[in-house]
Amino acid sequence: MNARDRRLAELKARIPEVTPREALALQARGAALVDVREADEIAQGTVPGALPLGRGFLELRIEQAVPDPQRPLVVMCGSGARSLFAAEDLARLGYGSVSSLAGGFARWKGEGLPVARPSALDAAARERYSRHLLMPEVGEAGQRRLMDSKVLLIGAGGLGSPAAYYLAAAGVGTLGLVDHDVVDRSNLQRQILHTDARVGSSKVASARLALQALNPGVQVVGHETQLSRENVERLLDGYDVVVDGSDNFATRYLVNDACVKLGLPDVHGAVYRFEGQLSVFWPGRPQRPGPCYRCLYREPPPPELAPSCAEAGVLGVLPGVIGLLQATETIKLLLGLGEPLVGRLLCFDALRARFTELSIERDPNCRYCGDGRSFPGYIDYERFCASTA
Ligand SMILES: [Zn+2]
Repeated sequence: MNARDRRLAELKARIPEVTPREALALQARGAALVDVREADEIAQGTVPGALPLGRGFLELRIEQAVPDPQRPLVVMCGSGARSLFAAEDLARLGYGSVSSLAGGFARWKGEGLPVARPSALDAAARERYSRHLLMPEVGEAGQRRLMDSKVLLIGAGGLGSPAAYYLAAAGVGTLGLVDHDVVDRSNLQRQILHTDARVGSSKVASARLALQALNPGVQVVGHETQLSRENVERLLDGYDVVVDGSDNFATRYLVNDACVKLGLPDVHGAVYRFEGQLSVFWPGRPQRPGPCYRCLYREPPPPELAPSCAEAGVLGVLPGVIGLLQATETIKLLLGLGEPLVGRLLCFDALRARFTELSIERDPNCRYCGDGRSFPGYIDYERFCASTA
């Protein structure tokens, strides 16, 4: 027998051991279950209600966690050895009733007793998202949900910039960006993701720099390509929400049609001069399906009726207002909060400082989302300007 085994045998003779079921019963009667494993072990799962104190800081933390030395303690580690040493230390600190969980967490799990997965939020995340954690509507569960979410932004331009910035700040775990353009100096009046120094570089690369500087925890997935009938479904698939900040009808219809087919919410925004509009198109919404973009506008207007992109001006702050409303709707959808802008078109008139709301009905005869319709396929419309995003 080596020194460690001898010491363990000595401890076993002195420290009472309990089975997992006995520990569960003790816990139900008010005993504190103290988990002395390392943080990375605890992250894999622990006993519900256990105090994750860790062996290294046990003496420092126990007094605050269990101020009453008469309260019974059950100490748990991985396999039942470390807990014997920890139990002895706790008895020495004055705790009157200390036992050790025989077989540790491995045996607890092996006997099929309940297991809790503790928060995945580390100290840095707790600090970063503290204002979210304070809100019961978000809290830890909501923040983890945001961190597990995937949002695809169509366009890293005027609408995509503020939306992407705030979604990254909020901790949305994966942000996909679709944009085939490069940064132009005339973009900088509204496309705040980009900088003068990055004129000429790809918008996706420029956006990635900006977003990762703001929040390194966010994964930015870039797609430097133009959406087409060939790639739209593959690009959108796997995301939770699509934010459409595109500036042309061809893209807008492709995004709508793919969202209809995949059942995804399409958070639509558009701006023109002093006016903006937004809505959430979501025929795939469980229980209460909403209209799609085609329920509102069946087909794109003829190109000669739309202004060219160079002619269509926009007040630089306008896409900021609309893009942030798109980000707000996106976060509500991800968290399942409030009343989403489904079946409603919200219009903003900056000059009059007025919001108006129009209700949009689902068209049961819509070619794409109508009742009992089979998907008619994707259409590559001619690319012309829809607004100045
Ligand atoms: Zn429709």
